[in-house]
Amino acid sequence: MSEKATAGTGASGGAESGGSAPACRPELDAAACAPDALGIEQFLHTERLPHIWCPGCGNGIVTGAFLRAVVDLGLKREKTVVVGGIGCSSRAVGYIDLGTVHAIHGRALAFATGIKMARPDFTVVVLTGDGDGAAIGGNHLIHACRRNIDITCILFNNQTYGMTGGQISPTMDPGDRGTTAPYGSIERPFDLCRLVEAAGASFVARGTAANIRPLERLIKQGMEHRGFSFIEAVVACPTEYGKRNPPGGALDMLDDTKARSVTVSAAAKLSAEELQGKIVTGLLHEDKNAPEFQASYAAMVERAQQAAGDETSTRSAKQGSATAGSTAAAGGRRPTKTDRGPRPTSASRDASGLPCEDGE
Ligand code: SF4
Repeated sequence: MSEKATAGTGASGGAESGGSAPACRPELDAAACAPDALGIEQFLHTERLPHIWCPGCGNGIVTGAFLRAVVDLGLKREKTVVVGGIGCSSRAVGYIDLGTVHAIHGRALAFATGIKMARPDFTVVVLTGDGDGAAIGGNHLIHACRRNIDITCILFNNQTYGMTGGQISPTMDPGDRGTTAPYGSIERPFDLCRLVEAAGASFVARGTAANIRPLERLIKQGMEHRGFSFIEAVVACPTEYGKRNPPGGALDMLDDTKARSVTVSAAAKLSAEELQGKIVTGLLHEDKNAPEFQASYAAMVERAQQAAGDETSTRSAKQGSATAGSTAAAGGRRPTKTDRGPRPTSASRDASGLPCEDGE
């Protein structure tokens, strides 16, 4: 985090307005200016504000969009868990007053998977970044997609490692500069939405911090979806990305994101050349029939319990008849070791170590 980050005068809007009450324009209706007009304050640790994000950072905008989705869906604090990894975006969990876990680098989805497996009735959401979620946490990401576990992952994509000083991330465009690529990145970036769809995610969407309402709707839709939902939120990091790459300043970055954004339906009418450099936004993929991990797991547990029950009753039946036979052979008294005969020796065991029948 840069020194600027401690300034805390959030130009990033949404959840991070700072102070005890949001700034209010007099032309707005009084009700809209009430401190809890959006209802998200109930899920914010307002006593921890101002936040640490830099002015112009997109992280607060996405956090606000997420919390408005929580309010709209009527989620309960005691049944909603938000897991963050490590990085600027993951710091959001420190301001959110729901069940929260600030996990270790790249492992937010692993923690979330454990929570969801222990409490299938909980809504579990992961807030992560492109470094945390797609570099060190890339394997956890693709395997969560493959399992299609009912978790929502919101990945803040700012194309850099903001917190640690601007190293290149797996989503940085070729030619863009970072502290680890002063002459420009030569690596091809991940298109994260295509990656997670190929890995099995059943809900894939992309929005931007430059267009908040559509992003909010996508997050809400993703949280309603049963299965692994992935929402890429394109955000600006003016401090670490913007100081090395055009267009640079916070507002210019926001304008640039807006100008380059095209909806899925508009993109369908453009050629591959025309789509170069564009950010395609909206719902990109949804499969409501893909098998969900929790459901498959519950069915497997039922099969295992059924099989264990069958085995127990078969064993009891066998033991009952064997005891009756031994007792009869022992002339009605309890059978002794002598009645059961000698223990099988190594010579009387087959290759698997199991006792052989005589002559085999
Ligand atoms: Fe600052 Fe960038 Fe981190 Fe945002 S992501 S808090 S702009 S360093």
